[in-house]
Formats: sequence, C-alpha cells, structure tokens
Amino acid sequence: METEEPENLSIESQLLAALETSWGYDAFRPLQREAMECVMQHRDSVVVLPTGGGKSLCFQAPATCLDGMGVVVSPLISLMKDQVDALRSCGISAAYINSTLSADERREIADQIQAGELKLLYVAPERLVDARMIEFLKSAKVSMVAIDEAHCISAWGHDFRPEFRQLRFLKEAFPGVGVHAYTATASQQVREDIAQQLQLESPQMLVGGFDRPNLVYRVLAANNRFGQVCEVIQRHAGESGIVYCISRKEVDRTTENLVRLGFKAAPYHAGLSDTQRAQNQEAFLSEQVDVIVATVAFGMGIDKSNVRYVVHAGMPKSLEHYQQESGRAGRDGLEAECVLIYSGGDLVTWKRIMRGGDPSVFDSAVASLEAMNHFCASVSCRHRSIVRYFGQDLEAEKCGACDVCLDEIDLVDDATTIGQKILSNVLRTEERFGADYNAKCLVGSQEQRIVQMGHDKLSTYGLLSSETVNTVRGWIEQLVEQGFLLRSGEYNTISVTPSGRQLLRREVEPRLLRPAKKEAQPKAASSESWEGVDRGLFEHLRQLRGKIAAEKKVPAYVVFGDVTLRDMARIRPSDVPRLMTVSGIGEKKQQDFGEIFLAEIASYCDQHELDRDIAVVDRPAKPVATKPKALAASSLAAMDLFRNGMSLDDAVVELNRARSTVAGYLNDYLKHERVTDPTPWVATEVIEQIENVLAETGLERLRPIFDALDGKIDYESIRIVASCWSNRQGEAG
Ligand code: ADP
Ligand code: ZN
Repeated sequence: METEEPENLSIESQLLAALETSWGYDAFRPLQREAMECVMQHRDSVVVLPTGGGKSLCFQAPATCLDGMGVVVSPLISLMKDQVDALRSCGISAAYINSTLSADERREIADQIQAGELKLLYVAPERLVDARMIEFLKSAKVSMVAIDEAHCISAWGHDFRPEFRQLRFLKEAFPGVGVHAYTATASQQVREDIAQQLQLESPQMLVGGFDRPNLVYRVLAANNRFGQVCEVIQRHAGESGIVYCISRKEVDRTTENLVRLGFKAAPYHAGLSDTQRAQNQEAFLSEQVDVIVATVAFGMGIDKSNVRYVVHAGMPKSLEHYQQESGRAGRDGLEAECVLIYSGGDLVTWKRIMRGGDPSVFDSAVASLEAMNHFCASVSCRHRSIVRYFGQDLEAEKCGACDVCLDEIDLVDDATTIGQKILSNVLRTEERFGADYNAKCLVGSQEQRIVQMGHDKLSTYGLLSSETVNTVRGWIEQLVEQGFLLRSGEYNTISVTPSGRQLLRREVEPRLLRPAKKEAQPKAASSESWEGVDRGLFEHLRQLRGKIAAEKKVPAYVVFGDVTLRDMARIRPSDVPRLMTVSGIGEKKQQDFGEIFLAEIASYCDQHELDRDIAVVDRPAKPVATKPKALAASSLAAMDLFRNGMSLDDAVVELNRARSTVAGYLNDYLKHERVTDPTPWVATEVIEQIENVLAETGLERLRPIFDALDGKIDYESIRIVASCWSNRQGEAG
C-alpha cells in the first residue's frame, strides 16, 4: 500500500486539475476521489452514491485524464443528449449513440471515434452489446466503461431492464479495461448482484452516506391537499419544483387548478403523448415552466440540479421511491425542501392498486407500503428514519432539517386520554367500521348513516367535538401505526389490539401529533447559502441564463448551475480572474459566457450602486474540501515561472495567454505559496502607496482601495500587493 502513495498523490492532483479546469470545481465530494482513483487504476468498482452525490463526475473526470475514450452505458436515452451537451459546454469532446440518431449522424460519430477525437461516448445498452459495435470499439482505444443506473441489471432492483443482462460480456469483450457501475440504490443485495452480473473482478465497493443534509423534510397530514401544495409552491415563487401525485387524474386536476391560479405548471404522466411529455419536460428544464406535476413516471430521465422543492401530494408506495423522488431536489447541494402530504386513505388507495398488480410481489409490496406509512405517522427524525431504513445511521441526535427536529410538530399533551376515547368508540361500534366513520362519530357528526345506526346515542359520540374530523382521523392512523389499533378486512375496519387494551387500562402511552401551528414555519436549515447574495442580481442572471439556454436549446443548468449564479451575485466579479474564483466556471465556460455575464453584472451593479469584487472568506454550502485549493494545469505551469521571479508581462508572452488570465495565475501562485514579497511584480513606490491605503481600508474589498488611489493604480497591482500583505498577516497571526 505504502509504495502506492506517491502515485496516488499525482493521480489526485491530476484529477483536481481536471476538475478545476473543465468544471471549475475545487474539491471532491465525499467518495469521489476514491471512485475516480479506481477508474484511473483500471480497478473494477461499484459506486453507490445518493442522488445528487455527484456520480457522473466520478467517471467523467478520470476519462478526461486517461488515454483513449471512455464508454458510458446509460438506459436513459432522454438524458444522453443533455449529458453530452453539459460535457461539451465544459470543453470536453463527447458524443452519444442511440436510436434517435440518423444514419448520417452515426457515421459522423464513427469518424470521430476512429480519429480518436472523443473523450467520452454515451451508448444505449442494446447498442453496446451488438457484435459489430464491440468490434468497432475495440479498434478505438477504450479507456474505461462506466455503467450508469447500474441497478437496472439486477432483478432485485426497482427498475430491472433485461437488456442490461447482456452487459456481462463486457469484461470478456474488453479485457484489461476497468468496468465501473454506478447507482443510487442502496441495498446490499442489489450491489452484490450488480458485481456478479457484470462479472467484475474483485471490485472496489464504495458506498456513500445516504443522508442528504441539504434537504429539509416535512410530513403533513392531509388537510385540504391542494391548499397545502399551493402553500409550498408559493414559498418557492419563481423556483423550480416537482409535485408528485398518485394518479394521472390527480395530476391533470392539480395542474389545471395551478394554472388557473396563475402558476407556471405543466403535467407529466404516461397517459400523455410522447411529444407532449417531451415538450413539458423541455419547458421545465429550460425554466419556462416552474412546476412539473407528475406521476412516478417522471424523474428517471431528468437531470436538473436546481429543483428547490419536491412535494408529494400523496404518499409514495415505498421509502425507496420516496428517497429517489425526494432526492431529485437540491442536487446542486443547495438547500431544498421535501414536503410529503399523506393520509390513511393513501394506504388504502395503494393497496387497491397493488391488488390489481403482480400477485407474486403483493406481500413484499405491502410490506414496503407499511414501512412508508410508518415513516409518515412516526414522530422521530425524518433524516434518521430514512438512513436507518437503508442500514446507516446519523451521528447528530437532531438533524436540524426536518419537521420533527425543527420542533414544527406538537405532541398532544394528554395522548392517553385521547387514545382511550378513540378506542372506546371503536369498541362501542363493535369494531365494525373504518377510520373515517369512527372519526366522524367522535367529533359528533350529524351524518345520516351515524344517526340511522343510532350511534349518536353512544356515550363516546362527540367526545372529541372540539377537533376536526381530519385531526381525529390522523390520530387513528397514528394509533394503527403504533399498534394500538388494527386495520383489516376488505372494508379496512378498525379493531382494538392487545396493546390497545393495555392503553385502555392506562398501562401504556401512545404518542399523538397535533397539526403544526401556522406560524411555526422556520426557514430551510441552510438558508445561509443565500448569504451575501444580491437576490435582484441573481434573478437577472437567472433570466440571462434562461435566454442563453433557450437559444442554445440546452437545459439551463448546462449554462450555469444555481450555485454558480448565487456565487456570481455574491462576489459580483469585475474581471475574468475574479470570475474564475466563482464555483462552477472552468476555462471553457469562461470563454463562452464570461464576457456576457460580466457585462450583465457590471450594468446591474452600476444601476444599483452595488459594491464589486466582494472577498468571500467562507463560501457557504460548499462541499467539504479534502485538500487545499487545487490549481489548474496551466496555473501550475505558470508557478514555475513566477517562482523564478518572472514579471507579469514576460509571463504573458511566455504562456501566450491573456494578461488577465496570467494575472489570475499569479494570484493563485501568491496564495498557494504564501508569498509575502510583491517586489518582483510591482514597483516599490506603488507598493508603498497601496499598503498605506490597505492599512486603513483593510482587505475586505478592492474597490475602496482602487478609489482611494484615485483610480490611478490598476487592479492587478492592488491585488498582488493585497495578497502578499494578507499572507504576511497570516504569518504574523
Ligand atoms: P448524481 O448523478 O449522483 O445524482 P450528479 O453527477 O448529477 O449527481 O451531480 C449533481 C450536481 O453536483 C451536478 O450539478 C454536479 O455538477 C455537481 N457536482 C458534482 N461533483 C461536484 C464537486 N466535486 N464540486 C461541486 N459540484 C459538484
Ligand atoms: Zn431530524
């Protein structure tokens, strides 16, 4: 192991340089480094990371470092084009082959492959297993094979696709080439099955943490569902979100009502035509539509990193589904909200649907459903409940990002008395009725059926008349979930269990929730990721992004992600080197969009008299850095020159780059090596002038220094002197 270290180190810096240059990222996300190293070393691997964990980069970044072309197998044909567009927007040559291409287009790509021009090729699985295709690829140099959504190969997974089975020939077809599987599905059984099906050779298993700390989970008992849905959407005005409904009919109705209220919403379900579905998805991706209302049919083929909320208007059918669907929120790592609205009726609806399905899986489907119901009705931390379900745990006692830990839900003070009242009513009505009927008796409903049955004469009738039917129904659900009541039979009648009898004798205590008070609506846990961001400017930049995306016919995130826009609206850079410090801007994107975004920032800041070039000490909500800031490859080359004391102008000639770019490199060098002496680059008398001002203004911003010097000294010199000055302060402290 030890002998490998130096090599690993150089692999790591190579990868970091690629990350920085092409993507503008300066650190790995958890497990990305390990996963990328497997690819670099041609060691087979199975990588499990939650949605938004950054799986794509695990194979994309090393593919750009390796000789030859990486092959990516993906079942998501609709996603291939977007992924390839995203790679190209980062300056990486990539292409895809699937059934949507014309013969001409295919030929063109074949030429590119033969000429060795591609770094990444996306292929649909059924294409890849074609013998001629394999022969053809063998003639090209395949550097690695990545299999996305790899759980599709396993019959144990939730999305088994038989055509994936053929991929087992890959190891034979490409001897010596590493095969790497990626999935968000957590179960160990699926993981092992993937390795076996693909015939991987002692693969490295990398399993990430399943918690998504940037998601805030809230579970609401249904009480005017549509109103509850609207409330969430309003809270996120102008942001992208998904509303999941159980049935197509509900999707249509909800969309109609939202549109009527003026929301920009579109439906998505299997009942729509392919064209209509594609159009609606497109509109959502390019942000002409804010809300997509969908059945579970929506999501597998979607890659949008800035979904700010996911609402489930009904209970999903399993925690796996819930984790997948809610996981589509906040993939960019910024805060996002997941709201689940449920009622006991959802359970009944699902059971009815499942009865019409495959009988051999009915029992396991119902077990998954019960686990989901348990999650909804329970009063423990949502983050913990989810990760525990997947066999992991949370360290902190309170997550700080769910309705339970944020104290948004109240427990009823005297749950035992309420429980007794409910159970008594169930016994008095001879355990022959469902939850709804019992709830109505308890609140004293005048409904004809109750009067006809004479149940308005019961001593328990109206015992909970100060509560709403929905509240009481919710309590009944919670009592079922906690095992005091049992729901059974064709009519879902409710009966009292042995522990229910104990409750009647006050030997045990139930826990009952009170619906949240209106005002208890704290902000998302990590709202500091808006800190320092000028929202107006952010909105302007967002619109500019939308315009460019529409012109280029690519999803908005292919231009820039939300993290990048917020960073721009926070730092408000005035020049290219400053712009390059923004997360998510690599060299290619700087060239393509740098100028137009800088111009937009400039005009907005002038109009609103905003300060520019804000020094951001700690950029919030960034992934944990595993290493000091990495430097781009060309920046590394520049280092040597500066180390030898080369002047800025000479370095510009030597590197044949723009002056502003080289000035950025110099600044990297100064910071990286903690240089304290600016004399090789700035004249002594100028240094003195700048330092005098610095002593007064401090380092916060460059603009006041520039102004105090009457605009006579350029920003580059100021920045150089400021960096060295700051390094000296660091030494002193
Ligand atoms: P997954 O496929 O695991 O759901 P993605 O690969 O789509 O996740 O990545 C989610 C988002 O995170 C994307 O916007 C991606 O560009 C971003 N991302 C990935 N790795 C990093 C990183 N190291 N630093 C910053 N952002 C990253
Ligand atoms: Zn919690």
